[in-house]
Amino acid sequence: MWRLLRPDAEAVLHDKKARKSLGRYFDVMQNAKPAKFQLAKKLPAEFSETDSTEKLWKLHDELTGAYYELEKQVDSRLKLFSELETPRKSFLDLKIEIARRIMENCHLCARRCGVNRWKGELGFCGCGVQITVSSFFAHMGEEPELVPSGTIFTLGCTMRCLHCQNWTISQWMEAGELHTPKQLARVIERLRSEGCRNVNLVGGEPTP
Ligand code: SF4
Repeated sequence: MWRLLRPDAEAVLHDKKARKSLGRYFDVMQNAKPAKFQLAKKLPAEFSETDSTEKLWKLHDELTGAYYELEKQVDSRLKLFSELETPRKSFLDLKIEIARRIMENCHLCARRCGVNRWKGELGFCGCGVQITVSSFFAHMGEEPELVPSGTIFTLGCTMRCLHCQNWTISQWMEAGELHTPKQLARVIERLRSEGCRNVNLVGGEPTP
């Protein structure tokens, strides 16, 4: 159906310039390479929940270089993704732990509200610890490389622009539906099974 609506989205798959500049994106889209989060799950990270945040950031810095090396090896087939073991704790787990701590004294964005979102305190964006979804669908109006785009509109925004064209889907928290990580994953799987090329988390500014 989308091919009829957006023939340019089909044509871009064969465009040499687009393939050159967005090579990895195209490969992930066509299941020829693993997405970055899948690779991050394969990189071991030795840390404990009792470690200081400073220590976790230091480890994060060290593993960032190791992550890019792993990506390079998998992309060039020096290592096969299917043969990589899943560690007990991964680089992705480390990122989750750091994000969890940031939300205890929220400074995820430049507002730096300092609220403890795990205790129900709300900052400027009004976001708690779960994601509030306004709507999701296969978006046909994006750039051709993205279409059909698995768009998920999130509520709660770090800005309140007077000219906002999306205020009903970025500010109106009562109109949204809370999603646990599992529920959000199911939404993403559904969009993917419908042929969406990507996950497009948007809002509102989607940081919170
Ligand atoms: S993400 Fe929300 S709570 Fe956190 S600092 Fe930004 S506006 Fe404040």
